[in-house]
Amino acid sequence: MSNEILSVLKKIETSGFKAYVIGGFVRDKLLGKSSYDVDIATDATPQDLVKIFSDKEFKDFKYGNISFKDKKYSFDITTFRKDYSYVSKRKPSKIDYVKTLEEDIVRRDFTINAIAMDKDCNIIDLVGGRADLKKKVLRTILDSDAKIKEDALRILRAVRFSTVLGFRLDDRLKKSIISNKDILKDLSFSRKKEELDKIFNSPNKRRGIKLIKKLNLVEALQLKNIDNVLRTNYPEGMWATITEANYPFNKHEQGVIKRVNMLMNEDINSNLTLYKYDLYVINIVCDLKRLNKAKITKKYNLLPIKSKKDIDIKAEDIIAIIGDNSSALGAVYDDLVRKILLLELVNEKDKIKAYLKYKYL
Ligand code: ATP
Ligand code: MG
Repeated sequence: MSNEILSVLKKIETSGFKAYVIGGFVRDKLLGKSSYDVDIATDATPQDLVKIFSDKEFKDFKYGNISFKDKKYSFDITTFRKDYSYVSKRKPSKIDYVKTLEEDIVRRDFTINAIAMDKDCNIIDLVGGRADLKKKVLRTILDSDAKIKEDALRILRAVRFSTVLGFRLDDRLKKSIISNKDILKDLSFSRKKEELDKIFNSPNKRRGIKLIKKLNLVEALQLKNIDNVLRTNYPEGMWATITEANYPFNKHEQGVIKRVNMLMNEDINSNLTLYKYDLYVINIVCDLKRLNKAKITKKYNLLPIKSKKDIDIKAEDIIAIIGDNSSALGAVYDDLVRKILLLELVNEKDKIKAYLKYKYL
């Protein structure tokens, strides 16, 4: 165990409380993978923890947990609790703290996520998590149906862990997901997106897409053409053609997605089209349409101009020919862009001047 983690556990314990590393960090460690997100479970309350870690700056102090960063580690310390009673969007309406780790374990989702480790690296595995890790199976703690009904996020966490870890879903879990899939509509689009992003960006995403289809979740997640996710590794490209629902995209994502969808309906082999887009969007559309990316990138790079700035004539020179008419200037530029892109006019000052004189004088 690293010194940073050991020191956090010791600090809680010397104040008279119990503390265990639990969840993803222990799971990944037992699988031989390193991770820097450390979840800690303790009987100290957030008020106790704030005093114990008075030297830290807290990122969060809500819902009965505190979190802070220490070097490369992010710590999330949560007080032992019975269960969340959920209101909309999964914010706990009230938290019932409990005294022991044993009571805390049963509110967790999957056996492999409920293995605890104390400061001496002793493993406390009360629900058979290690056996399931060996068998590569995802199984809920206690009754699958009740666990899934209680929190729709667990459906997507199940798909995510199965995808990322390459684990299969236990049969009862599979059945519970299929019969309760409609509760996904109660989950906010931002939580859905967070999980789907982790699934789509996994090198194992093929498994995730297959599972989403097999579990009949496509419609409940308001997705379509979901196989397009497999065609590209650009995150915005994965999202561009698969949903019209209200998933929360940031400004950059919105812009890329909009342009991808426009270009999908245009003739990408035309210089006039390529000129309007950037290579990022062009590459995504090549992926989605399975077009020859190298060939189209070369065509883009060989465009005689990529913007108006590249036209080999200054605005003053145009005005000198057509007169000081700013409303006409825009149309002249559009005409020049078109002619040059269609290779009907060479992008050289003298040639452009000659053309303007012929056309506008
Ligand atoms: P990772 O951090 O790799 O995404 P994790 O399992 O650590 O995976 P966290 O969201 O960090 O996931 O949660 C820490 C632990 O809290 C989980 O391992 C699990 O025991 C519990 N947990 C998290 N979300 C839920 C949930 N929706 N229902 C029940 N238990 C949960
Ligand atoms: Mg975690």
